[in-house]
Amino acid sequence: MSTSHEYDVVVVGAGTAGCYAAATVAREGLDVAIVERKTAEEAGHIACGDALKGADAFPEAIPKSQIEGAFTNTGVDHGRFEIPQEDTVLDIPVPGELAVIDRWEYGRLLIEGAESAGVDFHYDTVVQDVTQDDGGTVTGIRGTHKGDVVTYDADVVVDGAGSLSLLQDKTDFSNATFDTNVSYSQFCSAYREIVEVPEPVEWDDALVFKPTERAAGYLWYFPRTETTINAGLGFQMNEEPMKLVDDLRRDLRHRPEFEGATVTDKLGAALPTRRPYDSAVAPGFLAAGDSAGHVNPTTGGGIAGAAYAGTYAGEQAVKAISEGDVGEENLWRYNERVMDHFGARYAGLDVYNILSTAVDVDDLMGLLASLPGEKLAEALYSGTTSFGPTLLAKTVKDSYGYWGQILHFYKTKNLADDLMQHYGRYPGRPEALDVWQEERDRLMDDIYAVTGAEPKY
Ligand SMILES: Cc1cc2nc3c(=O)[nH]c(=O)nc-3n(C[C@H](O)[C@H](O)[C@H](O)COP(=O)(O)OP(=O)(O)OC[C@H]3O[C@@H](n4cnc5c(N)ncnc54)[C@H](O)[C@@H]3O)c2cc1C
Repeated sequence: MSTSHEYDVVVVGAGTAGCYAAATVAREGLDVAIVERKTAEEAGHIACGDALKGADAFPEAIPKSQIEGAFTNTGVDHGRFEIPQEDTVLDIPVPGELAVIDRWEYGRLLIEGAESAGVDFHYDTVVQDVTQDDGGTVTGIRGTHKGDVVTYDADVVVDGAGSLSLLQDKTDFSNATFDTNVSYSQFCSAYREIVEVPEPVEWDDALVFKPTERAAGYLWYFPRTETTINAGLGFQMNEEPMKLVDDLRRDLRHRPEFEGATVTDKLGAALPTRRPYDSAVAPGFLAAGDSAGHVNPTTGGGIAGAAYAGTYAGEQAVKAISEGDVGEENLWRYNERVMDHFGARYAGLDVYNILSTAVDVDDLMGLLASLPGEKLAEALYSGTTSFGPTLLAKTVKDSYGYWGQILHFYKTKNLADDLMQHYGRYPGRPEALDVWQEERDRLMDDIYAVTGAEPKY
């Protein structure tokens, strides 16, 4: 049997990007459906560290009041970096509002928010193909629902299907600017458990980070409450694979606060730790969230990027449909808004990710331990930082033994700043993308030369 549906916009994926995109479209009065492979009960259950940054300023399509019931810990105000190599713990302030959340509850509340905005949800439906007309414009999707074929025709398809989206394997982008320079090595493989501990932890006001023993990556312990901890770890996939479950277990065994703990949930997934896609549009098609690399590549935080990109994608889809032109030129403004809001910053942060694959982990930890915490925090979230003369003098003294690495970092930082400036000149039309990319690639060559890292793109 086969069923067909028609919508103005069809969105694939009931995650953050998909829900914000669809809610935005529905609020403008257009017909929109979200197609989700999971069941209605399982939807919203997504692998995550549960740290939600910047929820105070989330887009209004699904207002904060709708999701804040899932914020189980709003008392976190700093990061606690454990550096065993140096026998040091660094406390680093986290700028802006931060909450640790019950991720599944958040997922359910998001879906409820999109539903009340007027979005139709089609669960249990696995999208397997994308339909295109002779000119290459995307015209809909095809999938299966409980063994039956189901098709959706739409003016615009929004890809909110997350990391390594299947839709992008199925779409012919040969006449579009859509970024296809994507490979698994630009992703991180991550795994987390929800652990109940018998006694309250002392660090329920902190996000705890610790470097993994091998491979560029880190372990985290994020307190949902003082006795419910999200414990996880991840590594960049261009490194020798780690045994995530075993490595997490080993660390948990050595932490006294986890004695007698029980595990209540386990999930793992891939997440993009790369620069945002150069272009996430093609005729009739927009990608948002993980499916377009909208994740902070140093922290792995992707919820905020997905919420904003989803909203911008929804707004652009509505505008293009109202103008009767869903061509690439008419969707382009979406790329510009993403780059302008956070894309440039994430591209700058990616430089440090690249650097981390090329430096010795002990040197890196020693250096981090010698740097002022507030400057590290600034660099981690904004992509750059600067030192006044007094702080500089103190840092120079504290970091004795790491001056070679500091010079190396300093040169890298300057190149990251140049790169961010170049992203600030992201082109206003698709025809100018090639020239912009050429200059960006030249800057990347300098970055590989200075860091000694293997080219990532
Ligand atoms: C272990 C781990 C820890 C993380 N920790 C954090 C953190 O602490 N803070 C943070 O901000 N971010 C974190 N992230 C990243 C964050 O989870 C993602 O960036 C965010 O969920 C992206 O949202 P999205 O809507 O783009 O995709 P997703 O949330 O992945 O949603 C995609 C949806 O599409 C559906 N789908 C996929 N393919 C199909 C198909 N073919 N047909 C139908 N439906 C489909 C999926 O079932 C899913 O529901 C973490 C990621 C991982 C893996």
